[in-house]
Amino acid sequence: MKDFEYFEPHTLDDALALLQRYRGSSSLFAGGTDLLVQMKEHVRQPAQLINIKKIPGMDDFAFDAERGLRLGALVTTRQVETSPITQRHYAGLAKAATDFASIQVRHRATVVGNVCRASPSADTLPPLIADGAVLRIQGAAGTRHVAVQDFCIAPGRTTLAADEIVTHIDVPAPPPRTGKVYLKHGRRAQMELATVGAAVRLTLAGDGRVADLGIVLAAVAPTPLRAQQAEAVLRGHRPTPESLAAAAQAAADEARPIGDVRGSADYRREMVRVLTRRALEQALQEIRP
Ligand SMILES: Cc1cc2nc3c(=O)[nH]c(=O)nc-3n(C[C@H](O)[C@H](O)[C@H](O)COP(=O)(O)OP(=O)(O)OC[C@H]3O[C@@H](n4cnc5c(N)ncnc54)[C@H](O)[C@@H]3O)c2cc1C
Repeated sequence: MKDFEYFEPHTLDDALALLQRYRGSSSLFAGGTDLLVQMKEHVRQPAQLINIKKIPGMDDFAFDAERGLRLGALVTTRQVETSPITQRHYAGLAKAATDFASIQVRHRATVVGNVCRASPSADTLPPLIADGAVLRIQGAAGTRHVAVQDFCIAPGRTTLAADEIVTHIDVPAPPPRTGKVYLKHGRRAQMELATVGAAVRLTLAGDGRVADLGIVLAAVAPTPLRAQQAEAVLRGHRPTPESLAAAAQAAADEARPIGDVRGSADYRREMVRVLTRRALEQALQEIRP
């Protein structure tokens, strides 16, 4: 590994100043479970590492029934996995965190780090997108808010500038009669990246029609894929076995998978169909009358 300078700023302003001063040659560091692997493999060789763990407020983990969930940049996947709040109100995200890596990695890996890594197979991205999550991004020029859905632009690439920091993720409060599910399919149960992942958030209106829904897929496109045609099949209609099957087929048709060591493109497409239907059925079962 190449030598690097190491910084532990105690304020957000100091961190931003370091990013400005070392624009392009530095990297932010949270859990380090992606960054250190990339550095060891010489994929990235930052000359400066800026650890954000000493910045107050970055570990916020708060829920309000009106405003929803706020996850600071240092909240780990383990916290999301074990919190009764996420288990109850953000079950898709909690499940994505549970199925993530190993318990050791989950104690270090942050949700924000997973989002910023922008891997097509990232587990937290599909449920965050399905839930309508928004990133709060701080730069020298001020604060901006970006929907997680619009954040990833290519594998490993986001709209984040080199001198910006994601400080929080805000996830809206779920309306009543909402079910949420994340299903991950991999070659092993643990320590495995998704061959295919499917997140569903589904809200029923009082008359039993689908008032709103999000279907988001992992590992079947360069960035997490919102299956809008599949959503359109169900939105405004009463779910039936036939319409669930039609939505699942639409999701498979929308997927743009590649073949690799984890599975062929055809296999992935078929798994999209299977997982989407299963996730829709489970989301409906979760909705309390
Ligand atoms: C053994 C192993 C198993 C894994 N299994 C899985 C898995 O099952 N599913 C999965 O999705 N991923 C998996 N990963 C990948 C990794 O653990 C996750 O992506 C993790 O969530 C990254 O978070 P981190 O805090 O460690 O990020 P870091 O490594 O610290 O950072 C990752 C990237 O995000 C940037 N960054 C971090 N925080 C911020 C911020 N606040 N603002 C701006 N940029 C920021 C960093 O500069 C860096 O580019 C695995 C990794 C390992 C080593």
